[in-house]
Amino acid sequence: MTDTRTVGVLGTGIMGAAMARNLVRAGHTVRVWNRTRAKAEPLAADGAHVAGTPAEAVRDADVVLTMLYDGGTVLEVMREAAGALRPGVAWVQSTTAGLESVGELAGLAGEHGLVFYDAPVLGTKQPAEAGQLVVLAAGPAEGRAAVTPVFEAVGARTVWTGEDGAAATATRLKLVANSWVLAATAATGEALALAKGLGVDPQNFFDLISGGPLDMGYLHAKAALILEDRLVPASFAVTTAEKDARLIVEAGERNGVRLDVAAAGAERFARAAALGHADEDMAAAYFASFDDKAGS
Ligand code: NAP
Repeated sequence: MTDTRTVGVLGTGIMGAAMARNLVRAGHTVRVWNRTRAKAEPLAADGAHVAGTPAEAVRDADVVLTMLYDGGTVLEVMREAAGALRPGVAWVQSTTAGLESVGELAGLAGEHGLVFYDAPVLGTKQPAEAGQLVVLAAGPAEGRAAVTPVFEAVGARTVWTGEDGAAATATRLKLVANSWVLAATAATGEALALAKGLGVDPQNFFDLISGGPLDMGYLHAKAALILEDRLVPASFAVTTAEKDARLIVEAGERNGVRLDVAAAGAERFARAAALGHADEDMAAAYFASFDDKAGS
């Protein structure tokens, strides 16, 4: 097998578009489909073929990459696409989905003879654009040669977590990592909101923790988005963060683990969305601390 593949990419949102672009750059033949076609159209200039239906995007594909909103969306879209796929095609499922969804998706793959890879990614818009994601992957060792060039095009590193995609070992690790990311995002917003309420200059807080174990690059990155009003365009939208927070809480509950911070985080994302910040970067959870959209 050569190192170039025909890849059908379903979903060209923030992450899917960047991943598709890097697949084209790596020399693969790429067919993209997106529910809102206008978001896929710019990829034609990069050399991707823009398909009108999920089935058209995956016909003749060696590998299918799904990067949609959630597990339910992937199930719906792949049900439309699966009939056009030949048995033995590899399905790289990179959407952040719930544990139960991953099982359902692996089941759908089984019905159509597809080789399922549970392959969520770590990293946001900028690493996705730079082809520097970390791919967390679980799926059969036999057949990895088919997907490795795809992982290499979108990521800097692949972390293999197991051989059974249906067991969702990659998604389990992804949810643990995202619980940390979302907690740090929520904590950043609350610390800045409290500083505002108490009349504390945020810079005094940054100076106080500077260089110590409480300091953190992520705090500065997310705080800057809030303080400099750079929440649009989002790298990771508030609504997507709420979805992930709820998946994390549910995964905990199903496994006997109570996650109060993640649950509170989900409520903050929901409140920020209701105030009008749904499509902004998840750092906008900050606004959940106030009564109006402007944060006052
Ligand atoms: P996004 O920009 O909102 O893209 C979501 C995609 O899902 C779009 O293509 C959207 O189509 C599609 N979609 C939503 N509902 C649909 C439906 N009912 N039917 C068909 N298509 C539908 O989100 P994103 O940030 O790229 O995230 C995509 C996935 O990657 C999510 O699971 C997210 O949790 C995960 N993720 C995100 C990041 C990040 O930093 N952004 C990092 C790692 C993982 P339309 O364009 O038509 O709305």
